[in-house]
Amino acid sequence: MRHSPLTSRLSGFGTSVFAEMTALATRHGAVNLGQGYPDFDGPAFVKRAAAAAVRAGHNQYAPMPGLPALQQAVADHQGRFYGLGHEPAEEVTVHAGATEALCAALAALLDPGDEAVVLEPFYDAYLPGIALAQATPRVVPLAGPDLRLDASALESAVTPKTRLLVLNSPLNPAGRVFSREELAAAAEVCVRHDLVAVTDEVYEHVVFEEAHVPLATLPGMRERTVTISSAGKTFGLTGWKVGWSVAPPPLAAAIRAVHQFVTFAVATPFQHAAAAALAAPDRYYARLRSDYRARRDRLCEGLAEIGFGVRPPEGTYFALADVRPLGHGDGEAFCRTLVERVGVAAIPVSAFTTDGRLRHLVRFAFCKDDATLEEALRRLRRLKG
Ligand code: PMP
Ligand code: GLN
Repeated sequence: MRHSPLTSRLSGFGTSVFAEMTALATRHGAVNLGQGYPDFDGPAFVKRAAAAAVRAGHNQYAPMPGLPALQQAVADHQGRFYGLGHEPAEEVTVHAGATEALCAALAALLDPGDEAVVLEPFYDAYLPGIALAQATPRVVPLAGPDLRLDASALESAVTPKTRLLVLNSPLNPAGRVFSREELAAAAEVCVRHDLVAVTDEVYEHVVFEEAHVPLATLPGMRERTVTISSAGKTFGLTGWKVGWSVAPPPLAAAIRAVHQFVTFAVATPFQHAAAAALAAPDRYYARLRSDYRARRDRLCEGLAEIGFGVRPPEGTYFALADVRPLGHGDGEAFCRTLVERVGVAAIPVSAFTTDGRLRHLVRFAFCKDDATLEEALRRLRRLKG
């Protein structure tokens, strides 16, 4: 059987480290702090809205770009939280999760031979998406132990072939939320070199220190930014796979040209429910943040007490831990031992990089209920000997 050259290009990325770790966790009866999905259910009002939509007969295809009610709800959300005004019918596209939105945006906006800048560590979907577009990634490492955006490194990665910057904030796996200064530096590079920005903001509401700032709100960026998010993280319903992109009309039209033939239309009842979810009162969003802050603190304090080097994340539901103080050097080997011998699954940060610079770090997910986090910490205490 023949495979296309594209298939072999993608096979270089291997199988998903997340799925692999979940399978290992299941095999070893481990507590799974690897793959990032909640082990508690999403909010009742959102589940009721989905069930009501099914019962009301909203069960046929939605329009290709998205259910108008959800397009409107996304535009309202961007206005309510960020002061952005978007025309829902022209600028908001509903996708099968942020994953499809990212892939559609990269395929739509990159030509073969173009370059796209990606900050490292990066979420695992970006490089394969760039490969699918037959474009070339230019990887810029975040700088120092704080993993800060280094404006001059970003600037020097740009060549005449560069078309696009992928920016993820809050950043999975590093837990960074880029400051206004870091974003301003990225925006300046985009404007100066006429780049499009594709921003992955799926953790926009899981922030603990400063508020999340969308790159599209910075001067000169609204007209060149594709903002991507998803109901999966904000409403704890990762299996629903309802995401969206918000982009100026020419970029949205290009993205829809891909979306139309990859997904066509996203599940209708879940679009109704996502529209109801986004309209949640402020107290829902405040509670999400405070619940996750409590989980972050519980996990990070526990990890520090066991002896890991821990820097509490500014956002996302992931914490990075340095395994060197425990006498280990390699996160990959550590994660394998951990799942087999201690019964806890984590993800080595090397999976989010192209080099070995961060190989001493592992990622623990804390989108888990209190009992799960307690049990994980109880098992991890065995590492103290
Ligand atoms: N981007 C990041 C940074 C993520 O962590 C995830 C979660 N898997 C996604 C995109 C994908 O989101 P979705 O499940 O909506 O496709
Ligand atoms: N975003 C999730 C994580 O970072 C995993 C999604 C996936 O399995 N691809 O853990």
